[in-house]
Amino acid sequence: MRRFHIATDEEIKSGLTSDIYYIRTKEIIEKKNMNREVVAEISVGKLPRNWEWGVLCGIEELVYLYEGVSVDVFALPEGTIFPKRDINGIKVPLVEIIGRYGNFVSIETATLGFLCQASGVATAAARIKKLAKGKEVLAFGIRRMHPAISPMLDRAAYVGGFDGVSGILGAKLIGIKPAGTMPHTLILIFGDQASAWKAFDEVIDPSVPRIALVDTMWDEKYEGILAAETLKNKLNGIRLDTPGSRKGDFLEIIREVRWELNLRGYNHVKIYVSGGMDEKTVKTLAEGPVDGFGVGTWISNAPTIDFSMDIVEVEGKPISKRGKLSGRKKPWRCNSCYTWKVTPFNIDSIKCPNCGNDMIFMLRKYIEGGKIVGVLESPKEIREYVLKQLERYSLEDLD
Ligand SMILES: [Zn+2]
Repeated sequence: MRRFHIATDEEIKSGLTSDIYYIRTKEIIEKKNMNREVVAEISVGKLPRNWEWGVLCGIEELVYLYEGVSVDVFALPEGTIFPKRDINGIKVPLVEIIGRYGNFVSIETATLGFLCQASGVATAAARIKKLAKGKEVLAFGIRRMHPAISPMLDRAAYVGGFDGVSGILGAKLIGIKPAGTMPHTLILIFGDQASAWKAFDEVIDPSVPRIALVDTMWDEKYEGILAAETLKNKLNGIRLDTPGSRKGDFLEIIREVRWELNLRGYNHVKIYVSGGMDEKTVKTLAEGPVDGFGVGTWISNAPTIDFSMDIVEVEGKPISKRGKLSGRKKPWRCNSCYTWKVTPFNIDSIKCPNCGNDMIFMLRKYIEGGKIVGVLESPKEIREYVLKQLERYSLEDLD
């Protein structure tokens, strides 16, 4: 009996999560002896909203999807920030699958699914990280998504540059400790704030930061002062999760709380904010005395990036559908100025059309004849790679 409406690893790998037309295609190809050698590439036509670039995420799952499938798979390293188009307006090939089409047609649906959602989340996370201007950003959004995908969501948020995640399994997959404060329910159960904060301090391991939630019953200023007076030096921070109906000018509320805490000598108490955070609020509040953000649905429900997979060669001959460029290609990136250029596959080296430096061929071989041959970096390493690139990218005007 299927209690939860999710597919198992085996069902995904065996093609049961495929759109039916691919399975019919496989049947026809096999019956008619047409299992031909193809080059298929994955690229993006349009990015969501008005994004100028995306963070490629989901490569590790893609590699495990293709493990044991008799094809070769090349991809940009996971975490690569890719532009919508190269310098000449050409779509950048992000993944390339080479082999007999019938060998992988049944996992084409899953291939895109692994990449589209994770890359959307990682890109939304990277954008928030950029807007937060170095302040801490934590992913709190798994409660709004199907629990079966919470590890994927947390990993994608972390890879995109987030500093921590609230999910236990997600944090385990990443190799970090889950981050969190306390829910309003704890305070309501105790009936008063001070008792709840004290109980938290008495029960929870001392390695966990003491961050008191300060908007349950009273004004943030008075609850914030009470939290500081209750836990004194043990209090690491307070969290303002002010509901929309009470927000007024949230930045002004935060400034006021900071002032009152400092006035009483509680300069060490950090201020975290959460509740309905999006790009605009993070951008605005990052200008104020906020130390960290808890970002929920904005990240976990990020728009998917609509990648598509297209055949560009059959039996060594360039061929593609209308609207797509045929032939195997090479994506290059300049390591000095991050300009991208796509060339036909037979080009062996090029200079950057922008700055003249050497360009780097960006596809890496991950699978050869069904065997994993590429290195799968840890989420920490991928995140560092994203943050290094992120310094070089800017965001379009949000207004
Ligand atoms: Zn350059």
